[in-house]
Parts: sequence; C-alpha cells; structure tokens
Amino acid sequence: MLKILTLIKQLPDGDINPFDACALEEALRIPDAEVTVLSMGRPSCEDLLLRLSRLGTKRNILLTDSALAGSDTLCTAYALSQCVKKLSPDVVFCGRQSIDGDTAQVGSEVAVMCGLSLITNALSVGVSERGIECETRFGKENVSFPALVTVERINTLRFPRLTSKKGVVEKWSCDDAGIDKAKVGLRNSPTKVLKTFESTVGRRSCKFVDKSELMNIILENKDKQRLKVEITPSEVKLPEVWCIGEKPMEKAMQIAEKVRVIESTDVTEIAELARAEKPSVILWDSGIWGRRYAPQVAAMLETGLCADCTALETDGKKLYMYRPAFAGSIMAKIECRTMPQMATVRTAEESSDNVIIGAGLGCLDILDKVKSFATDNGFGFSATRAVVDKGLAPYSEQVGLTGKVVSPNVYVALGVSGAVQHTCAIEQAGVIIAVNCDKNARIFDFADFGIVCDVKDLFV
Ligand SMILES: Cc1cc2nc3c(=O)[nH]c(=O)nc-3n(C[C@H](O)[C@H](O)[C@H](O)COP(=O)(O)OP(=O)(O)OC[C@H]3O[C@@H](n4cnc5c(N)ncnc54)[C@H](O)[C@@H]3O)c2cc1C
Repeated sequence: MLKILTLIKQLPDGDINPFDACALEEALRIPDAEVTVLSMGRPSCEDLLLRLSRLGTKRNILLTDSALAGSDTLCTAYALSQCVKKLSPDVVFCGRQSIDGDTAQVGSEVAVMCGLSLITNALSVGVSERGIECETRFGKENVSFPALVTVERINTLRFPRLTSKKGVVEKWSCDDAGIDKAKVGLRNSPTKVLKTFESTVGRRSCKFVDKSELMNIILENKDKQRLKVEITPSEVKLPEVWCIGEKPMEKAMQIAEKVRVIESTDVTEIAELARAEKPSVILWDSGIWGRRYAPQVAAMLETGLCADCTALETDGKKLYMYRPAFAGSIMAKIECRTMPQMATVRTAEESSDNVIIGAGLGCLDILDKVKSFATDNGFGFSATRAVVDKGLAPYSEQVGLTGKVVSPNVYVALGVSGAVQHTCAIEQAGVIIAVNCDKNARIFDFADFGIVCDVKDLFV
C-alpha cells in the first residue's frame, strides 16, 4: 500500500491553506493509499487536524513545540524534513505555497533535505507502481519514489461524510521528531526582519475626474513615451554579486561593483560553484523558474532565501532586502545572516500592451464586460490575486508581488483596493487611472487620475 504524507499549514484565520487543501484532496483520490497528515504549528492547530481526520486520513500528526516559534522557511523545512525522514513515506504532497507567506520555498527545501525526487507546480497527478507522473506548469514530468510533489490549486477538498468520525491527533515535540533545537526558531533563522514600515514608494498625486473622461485619458496617454523611473544606485557597493540568468541584473547593478551572470540552470552545478567560490550574494528572478530552483539551492547551501524582493540596498558589506510584509501597505526590511545571502527579485515583464485593464474584486459582477472592453479596444487584461484566487482569471494574468510586474503606458485599475502586493507591481506604469466606489481606497494614493464611481456605471 502506497504511503502518502501530506503537509498542511494552518492559516492565521484557522483554516487550511487552500493549496494544501488541494494537495490533500489529490492524496485522498489515490486508490489503495494510506494518507498521513502532518502540520507544524501551535497547539490550537489540533482542531483543524481533527476536522481533516474525518476525511479518512490514517494518521494526523501535529508538530508543536515552543522552540519552533518564529522559524523562517529554511528552519521550517528542516523541522518538517526530520518528521518526513522518520515517517519515510513513498510520496509527500504539499501545496505550491501558503497564501500568507507566499514564498513557495518549503516544499522544494524539504525535498532537497530528505533526498526526495521533486516535482513542483503539479496541475494533475498520476501514480504508477514505479513513481509519479504529473502535468505541471513546466510540461509533463515523471519521477520515481520516494518523491515530493507541490500542487497548484487544481481541485476542491471534499466534505466529510455525515457518518464519519474524528480520528486522533498525535502531538510531536522537537525531541519526538529528532529536531535539533539549535537549528529552529526565530533566533536560529537565517533570514531576519529588521524593521517594518509604511510604504510610500510609488505614491502619486491623484486628480479626481468624472467617469466620462476615462476613455479620453486612456487615448491621450496610450502612445506617450514613458519616462523611465531612475533608481539611485547605492553609494557604497558590494564588490561582486551573482545573478542566475540575466533578469535580476538591473537590480544587481544598483548594489554591486561587478555582476557575474551564471548561465547554468542545473541546481547542483550552481550549488557546487557557490561552495567553491563563496559569493556573498546570489540573486534570482522571482518568476516561476526562480521560485522552483532558488529554494533547492538555498537548501543545498543551508542558507536563507528572501522571496519576491522589490528593492535591494547595501552598506558595502551586507545585503538588505525589501518586500511587502502584510496585506495593506507595510514593507519589511530583511537581512540574511548566512552566506551566500540569497534573494529572488521582481523584474518587469516585456509586454506589447500600451494599455492594461486591471480588474479587481470590485468587477466581480461584470468581469465579462471588462474583459470584452479590453479585447474590443486592443488593450491587455490583468487581474488582482483576489480575482485569480476565485478562478475567474488565470494565474498568468495576475499582477502583483506573486504575479507579474507590468509597465504599460496606461494602467486602469478597476475595482482594485490597492494593497501593497498589487501596487508594487504597477509602479513603473506611465499613467495610472483608478476607478473605485470608495473614495478612501488606497489605490487612489498610487494613481494619477481617480474616478469615484461604481464600475458598473462605466459599462451602461
Ligand atoms: C504574500 C501575499 C502576496 C500577495 N500577492 C498578490 C499579488 O501578486 N497580486 C495581488 O493583486 N494581490 C496579492 N495579494 C493580495 C493583496 O493583499 C490583496 O488582498 C488583493 O490585491 C486585493 O484584491 P482586490 O483589490 O481585487 O480586492 P479587494 O481588496 O477586495 O478590493 C476590491 C475593491 O473594489 C472596490 N469595489 C467593490 N465594488 C465595487 C464597485 N461596484 N465599483 C467600484 N469599486 C468597487 C472596493 O471598494 C475595494 O476597494 C497578496 C497577499 C499576500 C499576503
């Protein structure tokens, strides 16, 4: 019988991370399999595991220990990998990422630490006697057991049967799992948040206009040559920074005297080169490729990795990384206390669209009309994560911290609240027009033109 382990994260609101819910559903669909659920979290996580046990899981394990509090991704992956080694499953399923941390690092790091074959971003999962075959965002992939698979949002977690009974939750401490307490927790985490602060980057002065002016403003600005935002390079620089591929070069040049581009795409080769030559900083593009491979190299080098950095800074010795911290407008300044210091950085997408219509949750009832408006006028279409999460637009159209960065001549934000995770990816747009029924919406602070109205009124 196939032994499957599913890694589950509980969100701050008490619910299961939606990507992990999909991973669990995939596990439960596999015939003749024994499914164990493992979660690392506070004691209160027991309630979630008890609920999930009604779905027919064989074992439900909660790794809970005060020594684990504040663990970053590398420490979390280490703690989970110790449990995985103890349970020695044929296959581990977990979500592609959690929706609060959103780093997509833990699964890949656990695979490296446990020596498991790895498939990321699975869109469908098939199991044979020899191993796993998946359709992924990278194409068809198959690996032999033991393996770890990270799963996209591809299904809906089943409801328990009315007659189903709750199981029991086994509680493991660090000692139970063979976890070295000197390798986990806030104090031992390689990445450290130095401060959090209100972000003002990308703020614009908003002129409020009537909705009848929307089309005129778009047409007036759609062909205007955009002034490129000049970023002031750091006064003191690091002697050398490595970039994996050319994409992170622009950000690297702001903080380094010399940039070395590593062309290899082989994670073992990159890790071996880094071990031999000891660079102080390695930067990756935060697109889907970087998200898949950077965590593997971080685990091989046992170093911290800061995901989705929007800005970098240095004092000539250390690297300081900036990324949005929470929903809203809070940014975090982060350092990495191990070498090499690694980060994935945001880079703008090349796009031929002069105008992009960005749809937020405020467009929910009229999304088809918004899409037709974009298509009929030859404009591009994009969406916020809230819209993508509802399955109303594909991930490839998501603009934001964990989607793409866009830089059209005109960006029209329709029914978008303006969370920092969205505005950080539209900063380089020429003109930003925001339409929102709430005149206090944050998006207006990041727009050149504001229209306060119901988006439905634009399409009557
Ligand atoms: C780690 C992390 C990463 C994230 N990555 C991304 C990312 O890549 N991209 C992204 O977009 N978000 C991302 N988010 C989510 C982000 O924080 C916000 O939750 C999201 O951007 C909100 O989407 P929204 O503006 O569509 O929805 P909401 O915040 O719900 O806003 C809807 C807006 O529409 C307005 N509205 C409602 N009805 C109407 C109407 N009829 N007419 C006019 N206006 C109306 C409302 O006033 C409101 O301002 C991330 C969050 C986290 C924690």
